[in-house]
Amino acid sequence: MADALIIQAHGLRKEYGSTVALQGLDLEIEAGGVVGILGPNGAGKTTLVEILEGLRKPTSGSVSVLGMDPTTEGRSLRERLGVQLQKTALPPELTVREMLRLFASFYSSALPIDSVLDKVDLNSQADQNATTLSGGQQQRLVVGIALIHDPQLVILDEPTTGLDPKARRDLHEVIRELRAQGRTTLLTTHYIEEAEHLCDRVVMIRDGRIVADGTPFELVGQSRDSSTIWLHVDGTMDIAPLLAAGAEPLGWEGTHYKFSTTDPTATVLALGDVLRSQGLQLIDLRLRRPTLEDVYLELMGDVPEDDVEVSP
Ligand code: ATP
Repeated sequence: MADALIIQAHGLRKEYGSTVALQGLDLEIEAGGVVGILGPNGAGKTTLVEILEGLRKPTSGSVSVLGMDPTTEGRSLRERLGVQLQKTALPPELTVREMLRLFASFYSSALPIDSVLDKVDLNSQADQNATTLSGGQQQRLVVGIALIHDPQLVILDEPTTGLDPKARRDLHEVIRELRAQGRTTLLTTHYIEEAEHLCDRVVMIRDGRIVADGTPFELVGQSRDSSTIWLHVDGTMDIAPLLAAGAEPLGWEGTHYKFSTTDPTATVLALGDVLRSQGLQLIDLRLRRPTLEDVYLELMGDVPEDDVEVSP
């Protein structure tokens, strides 16, 4: 339904001189949930989110955010939109509380400062000069600033880059809480595991185009990569029926036979027959499906490896 769409972008193109950052991109996002934009350096993620925020103008195409045109209705839009930029310069000489108060004053209504301090877990730092915060604390402050007016839509550009695992998990909790409150969060990230575990929907971008879009579950299901199956049975198994079902033997790993297959369902069905007809007991079965990382690498192909951050 059109009115459930919180973001609508059609034919979005952005050129910087001879560089084409977005190549006619279409994106529709419904209200509620967490949407992750994933892609290598230079894919066009920041360009896309900054167009949605009204900070950059598309060269062509149409865009509507919360029913408004960000290029002409930026002011009204920002009342209902929370934005965290990739790089935010904090004004010097203000404490965390003063900073939140300052940003709260820009809006017609804002949450109580203490509730925001609570949300981003900065109570103990409330009276500390914001420039003396650690990197992770500064990042949480910037997210607190994005949430100060209780926006319906929150756009976060790489909110967890550079955070330690604990700080990253804490921020994930803040984002999950937004989801529980029915808010919509759009975030860009380089962390594939973050997208897999946090996002309801993942949009992969390469060279200014969407190359995959779906739930992590759907995207993994579309992978052409093989699954691996390990089997431990209580005797000698004739594996011919498994091979006939398309499994490729990869030898032994300890007590387990190891197979690769693009059709694990067929292998498991064949295994049932093997166990019954050969009078064997299954002691252990392990299955490794392709991950979102495999899908990402399939789609991004020759992207340099240091663009892929798998273990936050
Ligand atoms: P990263 O993950 O490194 O932040 P990104 O996916 O956000 O990358 P963008 O910052 O949107 O990518 O950049 C997309 C392309 O547009 C890149 O080739 C970049 O060099 C170019 N670009 C971005 N901003 C500008 C600008 N202001 N002037 C010229 N070229 C730009």
